[in-house]
Amino acid sequence: MHEFSLAVEVINLVQHEAERRSARSIQEISIEVGDLSGVEADSFESALELLVKDTCLDKAIITIKRIPGIGKCNGCNAEFEMNHRMDVCPICRCFPSEISGGQEFRVVEMVVE
Ligand SMILES: [Zn+2]
Repeated sequence: MHEFSLAVEVINLVQHEAERRSARSIQEISIEVGDLSGVEADSFESALELLVKDTCLDKAIITIKRIPGIGKCNGCNAEFEMNHRMDVCPICRCFPSEISGGQEFRVVEMVVE
């Protein structure tokens, strides 16, 4: 359960940050999860939902934003969206020579009170 320990880490990080800002409660957080980051966004979200109970994140609105990777085709140079690491070019079925993005895993926004 890789996603479970990541969820624990995120909660710790956010709690720490809330204390640093002397926040009373956290209203919102947004987390970016890249499709190629190795984190299963759905499992991560359910782990988070389970773990926020009785923490300062209990009432927070949690938004998980999935970021696809962009591959550049090795054959025809087209750029295409990648949701999986093994995705190939939709035009010529070649593997990408370069991949950008999709590796994100970070808290991008936090609204406290
Ligand atoms: Zn191609």
